Amino acid sequence: MKLVSRFFKFNFCLGILLGISSCIGGKGHKFDVSNALEKENLVDILIAGSGPSGLTAAIHGSRSRFNTLVLEGPNPGGQLMRTTWVENFPGVEKIKGPQLIAAMRKQAEGFGAEFIADSVKTIDFSSWPYKVMTENGMIVHAMSIIVATGASPRKLGVLGEEEYWGKGVGTCAICDGPLYRDEEVVVVGGGDSAIEEAIQLVNFGVSKVTVLVRSNKMRAIRIMQERIKEEESVFIKHNTVVKEIEGDGEFVTGVRVLDKISGEEYVIPASGVFLAIGSEPNTWFVKNVVDMDQRGYLILQARTQKTSKEGVFAAGDVEAERQHQAIIACGTGAQACIEAVDDWLTREIGLSRKMMNKLRDNYYKKKVAGVTTTILKEVKTVEVFKKEVLESKIPVIVDFYTQSCVSCKQMVPTIKAFAEDYVNKVKVVKVDAGSAFDITTMIKNTFKVSIMRVPYILVFKNGQLVGKKQSSLTRKELSDMVSKHI
Ligand code: NDP
Repeated sequence: MKLVSRFFKFNFCLGILLGISSCIGGKGHKFDVSNALEKENLVDILIAGSGPSGLTAAIHGSRSRFNTLVLEGPNPGGQLMRTTWVENFPGVEKIKGPQLIAAMRKQAEGFGAEFIADSVKTIDFSSWPYKVMTENGMIVHAMSIIVATGASPRKLGVLGEEEYWGKGVGTCAICDGPLYRDEEVVVVGGGDSAIEEAIQLVNFGVSKVTVLVRSNKMRAIRIMQERIKEEESVFIKHNTVVKEIEGDGEFVTGVRVLDKISGEEYVIPASGVFLAIGSEPNTWFVKNVVDMDQRGYLILQARTQKTSKEGVFAAGDVEAERQHQAIIACGTGAQACIEAVDDWLTREIGLSRKMMNKLRDNYYKKKVAGVTTTILKEVKTVEVFKKEVLESKIPVIVDFYTQSCVSCKQMVPTIKAFAEDYVNKVKVVKVDAGSAFDITTMIKNTFKVSIMRVPYILVFKNGQLVGKKQSSLTRKELSDMVSKHI
């Protein structure tokens, strides 16, 4: 093995000495590294996504002293942020998903990886370095790209699902579970996620969980199936499909199902419906460029993390062939980054330290906001709310959150980045809806808005409520909400 690599290095260097390009990035070629000298906002490695695969890739890239930028995506931290305990991560006996993510991120930042609260919108592959346009309108030129955008929960597509989304229908027991204490809920799905959701709901004190499995067997691994059987308040119904989610106009009241064996249709009373029916990969931005299967999962070159496009690698749940587990996401993230660094940037492109020094002025540098104080203020009393929000001379965004809300935590970097974008133009304040009841009551009485779910974003101008949205928002969506009021 050593002999082979020595032989390769010898040929590679000989090629350079003789002025023959042994790498595909030779002079005048599309992948000529000197193309980068004309580019601004340049990065050696662009990582799309900040779940375990993206963060592991970031650790490897920045530790190897390659300029590494992570676009965090709409759900920073990915699906591990919604996981209670991770028990099978080597070297760590038991750790909460968000804690594991925080540790990985800290490690990557410690090595110098940069993070931006933004997502990939489009990539122009017609020239190289590839031109990446973000949701927030930034252009980054990337010499290599690691697609680590994971997968998003699938929806059922039945009547009532959209109407009651966030009003009883959801995909995250760890986020919303506490709201269903002593109530009856339904979980849809027969995989590991469904069982995990059911167990979390039991732990949160729901009185009954009915798990609906559409076939006669569950897909979950045996140990999970055995674990769920021990739960007295969990009832599994096989051969049962959801026909409709019913409600009273405001919240979910039940699920209309069909028993495929008897043909009987009936309603299971429930105030919550948790969907755990698998997920779909977030790969649309490389559609028609990178080979993918019919479902959108990326197809990789055998035993590598290389996609069909030069310089583009994949890691984590965007790939169908591997199990979707945190440790596997990390493994593929490490592998993708090693291939990006060793095989692509170093060997194929011929990016040397000398060249990286030449490119110093071209590399992306994080812009630091002029005034970073007072951009994110916590408001706890009605008096302060009136002064800071209702009497403000500039528009104010109010971010209602609770301590246990995962989506709210995931939105923090986005809110901070947004606040930096609009320093002195828009004020951003936070209110803990789980403790500042005087404020939520005043909002209900004065502005007729019930803060029943978080994150809930309100926009005020001249003491008037001019915008509201109850969901996680991207930096661009926040910007769209407020820009017309400036
Ligand atoms: P899976 O794809 O494994 O399972 C999806 C389940 O939803 C299946 O039972 C499927 O039924 C059912 N389903 C799909 N569409 C519908 C529909 N329209 N209506 C009703 N039911 C439907 O997804 P998971 O999210 O459970 O797991 C994904 C991956 O993540 C797996 O590899 C899993 O092992 C892993 N995972 C591991 C965990 C752990 O280690 N603790 C925890 C969670 C996930 P059918 O079988 O009939 O297709």
